[in-house]
Amino acid sequence: MAELSLPFETKYFPIKKYFDVYRRSMEENEEFWAEQARNLDWFRPWDKVLEWDPPWANWFAGGLLNASYNCVDRHTKNWRRSKVAIYWEGEPGDVRVLSYSTLFSEVNRFASVLKKCGIGKGDKVALYLPMIPELPIFMLACARIGAPHTVIFSGFSAQALADRVNDVEAKLLVTADGGFRRGKILPLKPISDEALEKCPSVEKSIVVRRANVQVNMKERRDFWLHDLLEEAEPYVEPEPVESNHPLYVLYTSGTTGKPKGIVHGTGGYLVHNYATYGWVFDLKEESVYWCSADVGWVTGHSSIVYAPLAHGAAIVLYEGAPDYPSIDRWWEIIEKYGVTIFYTSPTAIRMFMGHGEEWPKKHDLSSLELLGSVGEAINPEAWLWYYKHIGNERCPIVDTWWQTETGGIMISPAPGIELVPLKPGSATFPLPGVDADIFDEDGNPVPTGERGLLVIKRPWPGMLVGVYGDPERYKKSYWSRFPGCYFTGDYAVRDSDGYFWLLGRADEILKIAGHRIGTAELEDAAVSHPQVAEAAVVGKPDPIKGETIVMFVRLKEGVTPSPELKKELANHMRSTVGPIAVPEDIDFVTSLPKTRSGKIMRRVLKAVASGLSVGDLTTLEDEASVEEVIKSFQELKKAKEQEK
Ligand code: ATP
Ligand code: MG
Repeated sequence: MAELSLPFETKYFPIKKYFDVYRRSMEENEEFWAEQARNLDWFRPWDKVLEWDPPWANWFAGGLLNASYNCVDRHTKNWRRSKVAIYWEGEPGDVRVLSYSTLFSEVNRFASVLKKCGIGKGDKVALYLPMIPELPIFMLACARIGAPHTVIFSGFSAQALADRVNDVEAKLLVTADGGFRRGKILPLKPISDEALEKCPSVEKSIVVRRANVQVNMKERRDFWLHDLLEEAEPYVEPEPVESNHPLYVLYTSGTTGKPKGIVHGTGGYLVHNYATYGWVFDLKEESVYWCSADVGWVTGHSSIVYAPLAHGAAIVLYEGAPDYPSIDRWWEIIEKYGVTIFYTSPTAIRMFMGHGEEWPKKHDLSSLELLGSVGEAINPEAWLWYYKHIGNERCPIVDTWWQTETGGIMISPAPGIELVPLKPGSATFPLPGVDADIFDEDGNPVPTGERGLLVIKRPWPGMLVGVYGDPERYKKSYWSRFPGCYFTGDYAVRDSDGYFWLLGRADEILKIAGHRIGTAELEDAAVSHPQVAEAAVVGKPDPIKGETIVMFVRLKEGVTPSPELKKELANHMRSTVGPIAVPEDIDFVTSLPKTRSGKIMRRVLKAVASGLSVGDLTTLEDEASVEEVIKSFQELKKAKEQEK
């Protein structure tokens, strides 16, 4: 066979094993994935590894399996039955530890409750719960009976909840009397009551007692979980489902627009996650793994629940806020449970950076072996801070690029195969089996060093099986830009060593006086200034230049905004990127509008900067931040006009 030359193979580093595995995964793609699939338990083997009728894929067609069986039952058949599955800590400090055998009995009892509530294969169940063990248990219980779940983040409002419940036509809603967040109680039940007024598909609601507060129970609709559990059967046969049977529907973060209901299947999704989790996190039997994301995001689905549990790993689950009751809560948790693998987001790291390294210093973090990052590109400053102050310069950082749609990690270092030399801010190389490339606007691969659009050139097992109820949106959003190729919507570049650098979303590119420049690059430059904690850059239409730069800046703790600092920042942008990077306006704010998953909502800032309406805010973390930004930007404009 002719030697396949990889477009991004590096000539400079002695990376061998990774490239050998990668090359083989491209040459014998289906056989490669079939080998990974054999690590799962199937009730019936597949007839065909892949049926590909673009853009519709059916991975492991003909195969029958069950996700809860793979995540739970199979670990109770060996010594792992007494291994810890979940170390859970509530925000008030309460602790629950579940072994795999306890998890097994809970998942079965919950599945029995669901069945007795009339839920069967194909019925959709909405889960609106805090980060308590009942959330993964319900997910697995749904999977056990073949009922697709849709997890709705517990910080969402009644409207956001109702929109998602209605879109997915859920038959049952599971919620709690409350959950703890920053010392307060999230009023989940009252919010659910308000939402359910507008949700005709929901017949019943199960309520978990968590906060011990008085709530309204509507007769014949609402039932306490603990009452239902009294009648529950101890064992429910896991439903063998077809490989493409929907495991869940999950709405995207809504960073760029109206959230999409991404549907994931069962077999391909589990195979992808099982394989990539082992490669990326280099899991060992004794690992204690903590992913700080919320279960309500894809990271929570794949990287808290399905991938680690399919491996029989011990996971940590924490209910509350990262900075409650003090800034070192997370570091305290790492010390307490001896976490060895820690996976978080750049936004969290930047938040901690802003508070200073004295907080992690208070704790013994020597159990850590590997760190991970997900959600956005991690700027080199944050990478280095994480490496130094959390990993104590001992732990590799895996910067993992993926999306709700990809289902699992796609581009990332893979120390479970071979640790490649890391470069702060680069997600390094595509994982085996992932055929990533970077195209120009016309669909030709871009030369080294040139920015282009990240695409995936062949199907992969974790890929979405559709957009719920909207096949046209599936085709249009992902498969129409470059026929036969999956369009990620992200910009990327490969350096001369072949490393991939993610440069943000393709729709976040500014056109300034004929130049095209990404918001990510400008923000990286801004946060490399020692007094800047966080920055967001947007373009404002300009009749002459096309667009001008407006920069919103959150300063580090203790730094006071001043006109001098503004000038200094403008000079800093000029000297780090160039004269075109000098912002037209710099606005100091105390917080930036973010999605609930911690991503800056640039579309909101852009609307503010251009004086337009701010649009759909249902996925916003904190409405106050938008009001502040609007007010502060108006004052800035006024001050500027007075100057003139
Ligand atoms: P929406 O699709 O609704 O606008 P979203 O894209 O933020 O929301 P997610 O699927 O949660 O929803 O996020 C995926 C996106 O996050 C990627 O397309 C990419 O832009 C960004 N991203 C995730 N991980 C990384 C990473 N390691 N490096 C750079 N960007 C990342
Ligand atoms: Mg997206």
